[in-house]
Amino acid sequence: MDSEVLFHILQDLGLPEDYGEKRGLPFYEEAKILVKIGLNPYGKTIYLEPDTAKAWKKMKKAALDENIELLPLSGFRSIHTQAAIIRMKLEAGRTLDDIMTANAPPGYSQHHTGRALDICTPGFIVPEKAFDQTPAFQWLTIRAQEFGFIMSYPERNSEGFIYEPWHWYFVL
Ligand SMILES: [Zn+2]
Repeated sequence: MDSEVLFHILQDLGLPEDYGEKRGLPFYEEAKILVKIGLNPYGKTIYLEPDTAKAWKKMKKAALDENIELLPLSGFRSIHTQAAIIRMKLEAGRTLDDIMTANAPPGYSQHHTGRALDICTPGFIVPEKAFDQTPAFQWLTIRAQEFGFIMSYPERNSEGFIYEPWHWYFVL
């Protein structure tokens, strides 16, 4: 994305151009090629970049072999969609500072790359902290790394995001 366009999107939300930089957040390019990996529990089609999609498929199968069902909740998200999510929360009356602890500014979300995946499991289909109490999460903490996935935002992460046990990033 053109940096002028990105600056305009940030300014539009009330964020300074250098917000991401100042906070030490890496910029993430949008994926160019995406593949469908299926539907999330709400019926929305989820997309990932091809290598991540392949790794996800393998990991999902390995989990299922141990009676753990992993479901995708969210995958690729464009810079524009990220801006729209933040705008919706602002319109709902939340402050920008508060929103910025749970949502990366547009351009700085790992979801732009198609390599990040929010994972849930039947019976727990919301991105909430208590996901870490599920057998699915326990399985992920032991096995996800084998498939190239790491949990990006553990408790007290240096990026200043809330603890996100559901958010996994493909790093191979
Ligand atoms: Zn996420």
